[in-house]
Amino acid sequence: MTDGFVTVRERMVQEQLQPRGIMDVRVLQAMAEVPRHLFVEDALRAQAYGDHPLPIGGDQTISQPLVVAAMTQALQLTGTEKVLEIGTGSGYQASVLSRLCEKVYTVERINSLLAGARKVFDTLHYYNILSRLDDGTMGWQEYAPYDAIIVTAGGPEIPQPLVDQLADNGRMVIPVGEREVQELHFVKKIDGEVEVEKMESVRFVSLIGEHGWNG
Ligand code: SAH
Repeated sequence: MTDGFVTVRERMVQEQLQPRGIMDVRVLQAMAEVPRHLFVEDALRAQAYGDHPLPIGGDQTISQPLVVAAMTQALQLTGTEKVLEIGTGSGYQASVLSRLCEKVYTVERINSLLAGARKVFDTLHYYNILSRLDDGTMGWQEYAPYDAIIVTAGGPEIPQPLVDQLADNGRMVIPVGEREVQELHFVKKIDGEVEVEKMESVRFVSLIGEHGWNG
């Protein structure tokens, strides 16, 4: 898309992502394409491509570009997948995913955030994103199983409904740990068995719900 931020986005890819382990060319292309500044309020647009998270209202944040790219890369998408995201927030992560898979299903518990994200999806004509207001710790049973699942809020454990809704050979990335700091977990389902590998430490806002924190 042509906008005043094309060069800034390319610089973000070259300076923040490529030197720090993001090698999947499709992920780099999606990060160069999706206009991150449209997912924040006007006053923050100039900072949208900085190497840090940004507030999106309701005490929530969009992750730093590197974290979005690293979690997306871990899902190993080829273009044919159904992907479930928990925590739509601004809609930025869902938008990046939508460039890389067949269909994105995204669940958010705060109505005003979901409404804002839906407006941006429409503006950008990202029609392969389906969204829903609900407690995402329960997953989204109707369209299960999913080839990949990404959770963009941190909880005390991996919600069992998400494990159940992951397809065989599916991948999930999810921050798990304390309220203030978590470790990214990479979960793989092979012949019905779950394998968990720990990645880097991260700071996400809380995953609140039946299989998350209480409030
Ligand atoms: N992926 C988002 C970042 C979202 S921040 C983006 O790209 O902007 C985390 C989001 O998770 C918040 O919007 C928060 O409201 C949401 N959230 C927390 N617990 C949730 C739950 N149980 N179900 C759905 N969304 C949840």
